[in-house]
Amino acid sequence: MTICPPHNIFMTSDKVFTMPSMKIIPTDKDDRMRQRVFIAPGRCRVKCGRQNADEKHGIGLANARNPFGLYASATTIRSMRVILANPRGFCAGVNMAVDVVDEVLKLFGAPVYVYHEIVHNKHVVDGFRSRGVTFDDAIDEIPPGSLVVYSAHGVSPTVRAESRARKLREVDATCPLVTKVHLEVIRFAKQGYQIVFVGHRNHDEAVGTVGEAPDSILVVETPEEVDQLLVRDPDKLAFVTQTTLSVSDADRIIGALRLRFPNIKAPPKDDICYATTNRQNAVTAIAPEVDVVLVIGSINSSNSKRLVERAEEQGRESYLIDDVSHLKSEWLAGKQSVMVTAGASAPDHLVQALLDRLVGEFDGIVETRTLVEEDVYFDMPKSLKKLAIVG
Ligand code: SF4
Repeated sequence: MTICPPHNIFMTSDKVFTMPSMKIIPTDKDDRMRQRVFIAPGRCRVKCGRQNADEKHGIGLANARNPFGLYASATTIRSMRVILANPRGFCAGVNMAVDVVDEVLKLFGAPVYVYHEIVHNKHVVDGFRSRGVTFDDAIDEIPPGSLVVYSAHGVSPTVRAESRARKLREVDATCPLVTKVHLEVIRFAKQGYQIVFVGHRNHDEAVGTVGEAPDSILVVETPEEVDQLLVRDPDKLAFVTQTTLSVSDADRIIGALRLRFPNIKAPPKDDICYATTNRQNAVTAIAPEVDVVLVIGSINSSNSKRLVERAEEQGRESYLIDDVSHLKSEWLAGKQSVMVTAGASAPDHLVQALLDRLVGEFDGIVETRTLVEEDVYFDMPKSLKKLAIVG
């Protein structure tokens, strides 16, 4: 009879074995051991000490009918299958932006000012705050002459002009893939196109990108909004997208745009970035195999929220949590499998802490599923190198 399959513990009518070593567990002779392993039903103390609410196994008090004190009222104990998505977490743009603030702190010391959150993650931002970094949403809140870092989401030309007027020393940590969209907007506008920006109008990235050509851009967030668009000339229209959109939402909106404006011009290359696409594809591939999808990320992280939505599109329960402390045990009650992933701005140590809890509390057995290897790397921005030389 199997007592604890994950730990290969078996019993016969007179012995307990562990496989593959076939070592006999000394529960028959040793009184101290017997006392130590006497436990409430449902907790395996032979080896793992795990709790299983609906099945009973383990070692109880010895008696005449049960000289070794063994019992097993159920023969199957289920472990929780944990599929860890790869790629997940930090993308190249976030890595670079975080490294920039780190480097600025090392080179110049606090105080350092960052326009907007450097990346949309509470832990990253709180960590920098504790080291003397101030995050501001308005340039006029930053003392004249200070050092300001622009976040990974980019800024509009107006913000740059305000910084110069205040004589701020600028370090630009905008992700190059966001800059690429800015450059597309500038080019389309110069060529006389009116541009439709597909994205979330209040997101920092949208505000920065739209600011490149505010008189030539219209923003749409949904296919329904496409119907309401009033355009100057349907034959002189182009579109770009936010880098962190849901691929399926973007497809729907772009489909609606193409239907209404057949001559609309697309950007030369997809604007939704590699990291967003890869993390969403991983959810599409893995979510159907599990009961629940857990996404580590902050509530204001666009790409993290899109991962939750993607899981829900697959018909799976999904939760966005800043860290392991936000995981509620009841979400996993009666569940047998869970997928773990993280948005592009979530540090991996938060994922590891979640895995530790899934293993310790839910008897998780973790397997990593790699869908694609990422090797994108962005060098430190020129503005930082220049400042480092000038001092
Ligand atoms: S999610 Fe994409 S666009 Fe945003 S910082 Fe990361 S790589 Fe850049």
